[in-house]
Amino acid sequence: MDATQDLHTRLQHTEFGYDGGAVTPPIFQTSTYCLETPEQGAELASAVRPDRFYTRYGSPNAAHAARLVALTEAGQDALVVGSGMAAITAVLMSHLQAGDQIVAQSAHYTGTLSMLGTWLPRFGIEVSQVDQTDPEAFTSACTDRTKMIYTETPTNPTMALTDLSAVAEGARERGALSVCDNTFASGYCQRPLEHGIDVVVHSATKFLNGHHDVTAGAVVGATETVDRVWEWARVTGPLLHPFEAWLLARGLKTFALRLQRQTETALHLARWLDQDERVARAHYPGLDSHPQHELAKRQMAGAFGAMLAFELPGAPAEARAAGVEVLRRLELCTPAVSLGGTETLLTHPASQIYAHQSEEELAEAGIGAGLLRMSVGAEHPDDLLADLDRALG
Ligand SMILES: *Cc1c(COP(=O)(O)O)cnc(C)c1O
Repeated sequence: MDATQDLHTRLQHTEFGYDGGAVTPPIFQTSTYCLETPEQGAELASAVRPDRFYTRYGSPNAAHAARLVALTEAGQDALVVGSGMAAITAVLMSHLQAGDQIVAQSAHYTGTLSMLGTWLPRFGIEVSQVDQTDPEAFTSACTDRTKMIYTETPTNPTMALTDLSAVAEGARERGALSVCDNTFASGYCQRPLEHGIDVVVHSATKFLNGHHDVTAGAVVGATETVDRVWEWARVTGPLLHPFEAWLLARGLKTFALRLQRQTETALHLARWLDQDERVARAHYPGLDSHPQHELAKRQMAGAFGAMLAFELPGAPAEARAAGVEVLRRLELCTPAVSLGGTETLLTHPASQIYAHQSEEELAEAGIGAGLLRMSVGAEHPDDLLADLDRALG
């Protein structure tokens, strides 16, 4: 493969690895493979990441999807698994042990927060969580037992950013592994490895697959690191099945194309929402009004993602009711959790996800009662704008 070619090109011409003459890869829908000789069996049984031995260990389809994911992050190597949480868990559990400390952020994806708050402490791992917008906070929280600094940027729902170069440098000085959940931005907008981060994790369910029809996860980094994560995944079994891996690889062919369109539309909509009187505030790293816009320009590759959020004005009860009303009036955008596909999705966390939390608890998590989050899809921007305009009333 020609490394000087553009990502748009390379995603169409990544070798599948098995010659069959088909233009698109076949699906290896099998759980096991014929072992031609006892010697070959013995060799494969102890091999690292064999892709034609037993499907929990790997498959040609998973290996192909992993190569495409690695391309999007300009990474050396990658592993794909059955969900983003499986990828995150595999990275944490393969690199931490009782007595270690991990420094993470106070804002993370909900599943990650449960891992940090409940599960890691149960295994004797100390967890420190810091304000991600303060680069010094990460290193200040480190002790001589820090083995990992775990980041995520931008974070849900207010699109707060983490300074990846600063964190990577702090981690390197302390011999800790630096990890970034790059799900929200994706490698189209931000490549953490280029900022010195050691490992990237993804919910490939989102922008990498891009069609709201697969759950998958990915880990990208040095081969040595990926091998170690694979060993955990081999034993615990969160594989990405061949058909899902095939769908992920198919989705990835249009990754750059989709993200080009979706990020352009997101910027357009964010600017429109930011100046609209019916909106109290828009959150998008590409806006001049974003508190970390300078960092966004430095760290994001000229595109600021396809995720945005905006807040409706008013006291909590009024803003909450307005949020519910906007969802009710939408005709084009779909009210649903998740993100990253070609259909635009809207969520109103206060009523749909955190309905059982008090206003105070919501405020603490930075979730306003009138906050709406939007995953911008591939529809025409004018149609999306018209739908929002109508829904805002
Ligand atoms: C969705 C998501 C995850 C979890 O991924 P699953 O594929 O649902 O397991 C992790 N991190 C972020 C930022 C996400 O958006």
